[in-house]
Order: sequence, then structure tokens, then C-alpha cells
Amino acid sequence: MAYAEVVIENKSKYVDNYFTYEIGSLDVKIGSKVKVSFGTKEKFGYVFSIKEETDVPKDKIKAILEVIEEESLNEEIIKTCLWMKQRYAIKYFDAIKCFVPTGKPTKEHKKKEPYKDLESDYIKPEILTNEQNLAITEISSAIENKENEAFLIHGVTASGKTEVYMEVMEKTLEMDRTVIFLVPEISLTPQIINRFIGRFGKDIIAVLHSKLTQRERYDEWERIKNNKAKIVIGARMGVFAPLDNIGLIIMDEEHEATYKSDMTPKYDTVEVAYKRLQYYKGVLVLGSATPSIVSYNRFREGIYNLIELKERYNKTPLPDIEIVDMRQELRKGNVSIFSRKLFNAMEEAIKNKEQVILLQNRRGYSNFVSCRECGYVMKCPECNISLTYHKSVDKMVCHYCGREQKVPNKCPECESKYIKYFGIGTEQVEEQVKEYFPDAKVERLDLDAIKNRRELEAILKRFSQGKTDVLVGTQLVAKGLDFKNVALVGVVSADTTLNIPDYRSSERTFQLITQVAGRAGRGEKQGQVIIQTYEPNNYALIAAKSYDYGSFYQAETYLRNFMEYPPFGHIIGVYFTGESEDIILERVDTFQTYMSKALGKDGEGRILKPKLANNFKGQGSIRYYVLLKCPIENRNKWIFYINDFIKKTIDKKIDCNVNVDINPYSI
Ligand code: ADP
Ligand code: ZN
Ligand code: ZN
Repeated sequence: MAYAEVVIENKSKYVDNYFTYEIGSLDVKIGSKVKVSFGTKEKFGYVFSIKEETDVPKDKIKAILEVIEEESLNEEIIKTCLWMKQRYAIKYFDAIKCFVPTGKPTKEHKKKEPYKDLESDYIKPEILTNEQNLAITEISSAIENKENEAFLIHGVTASGKTEVYMEVMEKTLEMDRTVIFLVPEISLTPQIINRFIGRFGKDIIAVLHSKLTQRERYDEWERIKNNKAKIVIGARMGVFAPLDNIGLIIMDEEHEATYKSDMTPKYDTVEVAYKRLQYYKGVLVLGSATPSIVSYNRFREGIYNLIELKERYNKTPLPDIEIVDMRQELRKGNVSIFSRKLFNAMEEAIKNKEQVILLQNRRGYSNFVSCRECGYVMKCPECNISLTYHKSVDKMVCHYCGREQKVPNKCPECESKYIKYFGIGTEQVEEQVKEYFPDAKVERLDLDAIKNRRELEAILKRFSQGKTDVLVGTQLVAKGLDFKNVALVGVVSADTTLNIPDYRSSERTFQLITQVAGRAGRGEKQGQVIIQTYEPNNYALIAAKSYDYGSFYQAETYLRNFMEYPPFGHIIGVYFTGESEDIILERVDTFQTYMSKALGKDGEGRILKPKLANNFKGQGSIRYYVLLKCPIENRNKWIFYINDFIKKTIDKKIDCNVNVDINPYSI
């Protein structure tokens, strides 16, 4: 007699277990979707394991009712789910639901593929550069030999990475294997898809991203599952495409924060990609002009192979980057948001009918506190990250350790009284441009625009047609835009990203500046970039100015190592969410005691003070979090204890949800 261990489709944390069913004469495999009776109801589930014997009393075991072949998964996916459950401390079903479509299939005759109407104007370049050819040879050889290798392509902006991707994709298809191509959500524009459709044709491409309707998503899922699609292009959810025989996964702009999920399951896309490829002996390719510190460190540790593309395909030199010291401007009596240098350059560009991009990356974060005189930024002495000003309590708060401080009335560095809460937003920039340049056409592109995709595309289209002179925006303007007439890029306040309360803030600033600079001078003429800041000596800015990734990497890893931040340690966020503050605080307290006991000496000074999650929005519920600074080699052990604590909380049916986020991108 054979038995199946089934994970039941459900949302409840109380049934996160295997349930045993009899297989009988049905054709059941690992991954099969099955219908079973569960309690008084019929439910669906997935088979995670099959065995000949069971301890469950025979009279308690029911038979599987039906196998749903069309929606079944394969063994690799189940293995990946099991791994995810352990790694991210999640429920079985949280992992499963990544791989299965939500929504219902569309009726056969009404099926509509997204991007069906897209007509491609892609032309394959006739000759590739030497660097491109070398990269292709190296990656192709791993693909041909089915070596489970990973490559990090460090290529300057416009070095022609996408052409390299397409060549190695072709190689993979020739081997009769499949490909996943991932981009950050926000760069998944028709322009990108256009190129792939032009090269490979619509028929073998499927797309997966969060902006598809549920039906579109189901239909695409089905095309992938039925082996009709050989290439999946997607945002991070594309990594879960139910493809078989995956030969290659590419992650473009691998450094982007959107590859880390901030919703349950809080997975890291590159880890899932790597895991899936191990099973298939496939190749991982990561590409970026500014590799993440974590990825570059993996190259240094011998985990990734590095490929460098140092030249732009058309040999236009990279734009010239200048740093303007805004403290000097203030001393000279200029209190406007534009330095004289940026103002003059804008005037010049507009006069010459060239276009300008202004970046002001002010998103929903609260303000940081700094001295206008000397540029000193208030930081937490423990955590070395900038303090956030909270208006309600009129205090500066550290979002890591919870320490609160009064705003000083004098600068601790230079004693000046000009302590200010900073926070120029894009709207203010737009308004100022209009005031100073009344004849220029100005448009704004920020997070609000992304809610409405059409509006986003319309703004970009008007800009590409030259109808807009100045485009003001958040980091959205830094991503992948390929416009030939942009002569000038201005970064209104580099301090905005430098001082977000996150240990990655320097890394993000370096990336953002390099990326946005890459938008200038994509035509014949060299572009110009002006960065305004109160901290002109910041190492991230100085390295970005000379496109010196190496020196940035060195300075940054030195600090990270010292602070035990990733990749030299893990920050584990444990979140306690519920309706009753008393119950939550009791749980937090129990957790701290439990962990201190479990970890003993290892945990000393590594369990930070609990903190109310200010940004948490939940109907009627509140959230506290505790951050743990886990040594790099102890991850599995610590997660094991946390899981055990979660299980105890569930078993006791305590009204408090406990979740884990490892190396969270925002708190
Ligand atoms: P990246 O992704 O490195 O920024 P892309 O692959 O988008 O660069 O290439 C930038 C531009 O250069 C694109 O318009 C692309 O078609 C063009 N290009 C890339 N490689 C070549 C080549 N070998 N010959 C001609 N044009 C090329
Ligand atoms: Zn000062
Ligand atoms: Zn702190």
C-alpha cells in the first residue's frame, strides 16, 4: 500500500502539516495536485512525499479523491518549497502559492496574451564588440556543459548587456532547455519586451508580473506549464515560473531592491533562482552596472565568476560627474534648491534644446536631521545609521535599536544653530523649475505615476519625443531609460538617499548616481552630471564621481564588516503582529527571554530592543519588531530557534502572528 503526504491548500497557520492519504490505484507523483476530503469538506492539496508505510492508524486514513493533472507541480518545485520553508521560516503553503496561479483560466476562445499587439522594431546588431563576444563564449561554454555556474556581469551603462543576454538565451534554447529572464518590476516596460519579442517571436515568450490581471496570469502560467512558452520574462515572481528543464536564469539590474520580497514569503529572488538551477544544472547570470555589495562579495569568495564590460558599445565616454558643495552655496547666500552651477547648466541645456533629468529621490520616508553649516548628520552611536525625525514625539529615533534622542539645538560637530530636518520632495523641485524657467516644459515622474502604467508610459513617450524639456523624478528616472538627447542630469540632493535609515544607504546612493548618470550622453555628445550635497566628502559620492566601483566596494565592505552587516552578518527581523498590545508585548518579552536562553553567550548584545513599527498599516492591529544581529555562520541555528518559538506560539493559540524577515530592505 502506498501513502501520500499532502499539504492542504489553506490559509490557517494551524494546519501547516503533512496529512496522510491513501493513493489507491491513482497515478500520484510528488507534486501532484489532489482533491481530498478534509474534515467535513473537500479540499485541494499537493503531494510532498510518498511512502509505503505509515504510523497513522489505518481506519483514520482516507483515500485521495482525484488527481488534477493540469495544475500539478513537479518534484523540483516541491524540493524548492521545502527549502523555502526552512530558509524563510514560512508555512508550506506560503511557498506553494508562489508556484501556482491565482485566478481562473480564461475560456479557450477568449484567451488573450498580454503584449499581443506589440509590434517589435528590434534589429539585431551586425557585429558584437570584443567584450561582448568574450562574455558570450564564457557563459555559453557553461551552458553547453551543463555546469551549474553563476556569472556576475559588471558592465557599464550602455555596454550592451542585453545583447549578451539574448545570445546566451539562444544558446540555451538550442540545447532544448528553457530560460527565465528577470528584470526589476519597474523596468518591465514594453520597450524591454519589444526587444525580446523581436528576437525570439511572441509564441515562445510568456510574461509574469504583478500588473497582469488574474486571468492573464493564469493563461500565461498555463502556456508555461504546457511547454508552449520556452522563455519567461518577468519581475521577481517570474522566478517561480513552472518551467521544466531550466537551463538559464538571468537577473538584469541584479542590485535592485525589488528582487527582495517584502511580503510573505519574504524571499530573496537570487537565492530561489540559485536553488532551482542546482536541480537542473543550469546557469545563473546576474547583470548590473553597479553590482550589489553582496553579489560582488560572492565573486570575491569564488561563488560567482566575474565578467567585465568596460566599454560602451558606441565608445561615447561616460558622462562627466561633478559634485557641488551646498554648504558653500549657503555661505554665498544662495538659499534656493539649485546651486549656481546646476542652474547655469540647466539654462544652457534648455537654450540648446537639449533635455534635462533632475533626480530627487524623496519617497515616503521621514526626514533625516542634519546641520546645514557643516553637513553633519545625526546618527545612532550604536548602529551607525541616520536617525529619523518623528514629529509626534519631537525626537530623533533609531529605527534599528529603538534609541530615542532629543534634537540638539546646536550641531555637535560645529556648534552651528542651523540644524534642519531635510526633505525636499519632487513636487517642490518641479515647482521651482517652473518658477525659474517659466518657458520650459516640465514633467514629473514619481511613485504615484506607477499606480497608473499608462500615465507612466505617456510621460516617457512625451519625453522621448522631445516634448518635455525637464523631467523631474524619483529613482524612476534612473532606470534603463535610453534617450539620446539628454545632455544634463542633476541630482538635487544626494543626501536624501545617503541618509535614509538603512545600512544600505551608501550602496544605494552609489548605485543611483551611477545609474542616473548613465541616462546622460547616450547620443554622440558626452553628457554632464551635477550632484548637489551637503556632504561632498562622502566616500560613496567620491567613488561615484570617478566611476570607481572598486574603491567604493572597499570602503563599504570595511564598514559592513566592522558592523557585521550583510554580507558579514545577518539582520533577522522578527515581527509580532496582533490586535492586543498587551499580548504582543508579552510575546516579545517571552521571545527575548527564550532567545537569550537558547543562544546563551552567542546571543549577548545581539538581540536589540523591541520597537513599535511606525509604518505598519493593518486594520485594527499593531506591530512590534525585534532585530537580531546574527553571525554569518549561525543563520540556520538561529532560524531553527525562531521557528521553534513560532511553533510554540501557534500551539498555544496565542493571538499574535510572528513573522520573520531576513535582511529586510525596510523596516
Ligand atoms: P546595457 O543593457 O548594457 O545598458 P543595452 O544592451 O541596452 O546596454 O545596449 C544599449 C544600446 O546599444 C541598445 O540600443 C543596443 O541595441 C545597442 N547595442 C548594443 N550592442 C551593440 C552592438 N554590438 N552593435 C550595435 N549596437 C549595439
Ligand atoms: Zn555642524
Ligand atoms: Zn541604533
